[in-house]
Formats: sequence, C-alpha cells, structure tokens
Amino acid sequence: MHPALTKTIADVDPEIAELITSEEKRQRDSIRLIASENYVSGAVLAATGSVLTNKYSEGYPGKRYYEGQKYIDQIEQLCIDRAKKLFGADHANVQPYSGSPANLAVYFAFLKPGDTVMGMALPSGGHLTHGWNVSITGSYFKSVQYGVRKDTHRVDLDEVRELARKEKPKLLWAGGTAIPRTIEFAAYADIAKEVGAIFAADIAHIAGLVAAGAHPSPVPLADVVSTTTHKTLRGPRGGMLMCTAAQQKAIDRAVFPGLQGGPHNHTTAGIAVALKEAATETFKTYAHQIVTNAKALAAALVERGFALVTGGTDNHLILADLTTKNVSGKIAAKALDAAGIELNYNSVPFDPRKPFDPSGIRIGTPSVTSRGMREPEMKQIAAWMDQVVSAPSDATLHAKIAGEVRELCAKFPAPGLLV
Ligand SMILES: *Cc1c(COP(=O)(O)O)cnc(C)c1O
Repeated sequence: MHPALTKTIADVDPEIAELITSEEKRQRDSIRLIASENYVSGAVLAATGSVLTNKYSEGYPGKRYYEGQKYIDQIEQLCIDRAKKLFGADHANVQPYSGSPANLAVYFAFLKPGDTVMGMALPSGGHLTHGWNVSITGSYFKSVQYGVRKDTHRVDLDEVRELARKEKPKLLWAGGTAIPRTIEFAAYADIAKEVGAIFAADIAHIAGLVAAGAHPSPVPLADVVSTTTHKTLRGPRGGMLMCTAAQQKAIDRAVFPGLQGGPHNHTTAGIAVALKEAATETFKTYAHQIVTNAKALAAALVERGFALVTGGTDNHLILADLTTKNVSGKIAAKALDAAGIELNYNSVPFDPRKPFDPSGIRIGTPSVTSRGMREPEMKQIAAWMDQVVSAPSDATLHAKIAGEVRELCAKFPAPGLLV
C-alpha cells in the first residue's frame, strides 16, 4: 500500500485532527438541545467515512453513466428498498445532497419559474425552502405564505383552505422547523386535492418519529414526502424524497440530471445503515422516548415559569418565549452555551423582536434521548436552564453548571464518540 494511505489524520494534518477531537469532546461534555441535531451510531459514522467517497455513479441503480457500479448499485438499491419499507412509500430517491436540495428538486419536478407555491412562513415555524422571500424558492416562484393563529399559535387549516382556494398554488407544503405540535397531513392533502396542487410533506425534523409511529405519517396522503436523514432519523447529513408511483419519474428526473451530478455514495451507505437501525424495536423505543422526554422537559419548564408557544409539545421540540423571563433569546442561548447547554435562539410567532435577537429559544430532545437520558434528567435540565436564564450574566454560575453538566454527561455516553 502507498505509505500515505496508512497515515492517520493526526500524522497528515494535526491541526484538523486536533480540532475534530476538540469538537468530539465538546459533543461529549454538553447537553445538546438543538432540535435538528443528533448523535449517529458508530456504524453510520463508519459507512460515512468509507472508500465509497471515491466513486462516481451518476444515474440510478442499473442505469449508470460510469463503469464499476457492481457494489454501489447494491448499496443504493438496499437503501431505496429500506426507505420504501420503513415509510411504506411506493418510491424513494436517496440521492439529494441534503434537505434543501431535496426540496428544490420538488419545485423543479412540478413548477415553472413564476408558478405559485404555498408554504408556512418562516416566522411561524416554516422552512426557508417553503417559499420564504430570501430563499431561491421565494424569488423564482410566486410565494404565498400561511402562518399560525394569533390566539393559539397553531395552524388554522380553514384559513389555509381559504388562501389555497384564492391563490390556487401548484405546490402546497406542510411541515417546518419550529412546529411543536402534530401536523395534520390529512387536512393538507384534502386542501391540495381540492385546488389541484401537488402536496409535499416535509418531515425533515420528525422523520424518526414518523418511522417509529410516534407521529402520524404523511404516507400515502402526500404526493411527495421530503426529509433530511440526519435529524430524528439519526443518519448522516443527507436528504431523501419519497413519492407515489405516479410521481416517481418526475422526482427522479428532477434530482438527476435536473439538479445534481454524482450521488454521495458514502452518504447513501450511511443512510442505508441508519434505515436498518430505524427498523428495530430499539429505535421505536428511542423515538417514543424523545416525545416522552420533550413532554417531561416542557412540563418542568412550565412549572418554573417558562412560557411555551402553544403551551407544550406533541413531538421532539419546544419553543419557549422568554419575554416573561426578561431576557432575549440570544442572550439566554449564549449564557446556556457557557453552562454547557447548547440550543438556538429562535423567533416566536408574532415576535416583536428582530430574527437576529428574537424573543425565544428552540429546544429539542433527540440528542439527549440518544444518550439514554429520561424524565429525571429532563427535570434536572429544566432546573439548570431556569438558573442560567435567571442569571444570564453570572459567569461563575455558568462555569459551575457546566461542570455539573459534564458530570451528568459522563453517565450517559454518546453513541458514535470515541473520546
Ligand atoms: C432542516 C430542514 C430542511 C433543510 O435541510 P438541510 O439539510 O439543512 O438543507 C428542510 N426542511 C425542513 C422542514 C427542515 O427542518
């Protein structure tokens, strides 16, 4: 073997090696409450870091534009078959590079520039790619946005129906990034049918819950289901599109050659491994525990005077409005980070503050659940959060809590970490 191939990262590039190790320790020693993050298994990491990254394979299994696909075809086919089986879908395309490109492929499959798309507004919990103005999806298409009700902070599907009747979108999105409640896919499907729109369900955040039956599934109600693979589904960073047999051709063509070149085969293998893991009883238990933990954390926060958007949660995610705690979301998030509790500041519906320093924080339980934490730990986390948010400039307190956080984390080893 060429000597360079036996060298480790530390031999070749000590700077990067050290930074990776530091990040690994940071992930080990902190309570990670970013709702879109997780810890992948060692098996998923190994597949992602494999020689499959060396291979080009434009096309689909059995129909490639490059030779040498004997094993790659089998890997992608296994991945497709596992996705179809897990979600009960007619078809799966596992090539999108991530969630945003997957969504772009949906536009390319069904819309022409200037056509009307309808999605949830970003400040209400929607995603950029559902037609928000700074996104390509809001500038190349005519975007109509629905929000949540001022009194309930929930989507009013009668309002969505009214708007859809008036605007006649070609594409209707359901889903988002900061929705603490169950998404009523059947109602969206009904509205899309009435106005002749393609119904796309974006389950990026909740795919793991859907796979495990901890959230209702959009299959077979949606024409297309889009997802990332790295959030609750606990795979490598990637994207996936599932659809009905009728839309298979349009979706496949839109991903390749419409939007992308060669698929990332190392990622495909990682997704295949994650999908195999997601079909197990252990995964089902994990997914239901994510929801149990989120409800426990929400209840403990409410007990400590936190105001939660919609009052609680049905899934993995909690949005807290810190106005009642007299601190901004950004100041709270930075203080919590100093105390070893990592989350993100987030706008709340009808937020009077600006997106770069909004009123809220977003909290998610997937990562802590992957470490094996349960309801008692959620209570402890709520207590620490309350202490920090009540004293956002007390660096001594933050350092003390960071030490306690490290001690708790040591009792719950994170999957995939070597340190
Ligand atoms: C995370 C997310 C995406 C985008 O995924 P990326 O992989 O970050 O591009 C799309 N839609 C929703 C609802 C998401 O939460």
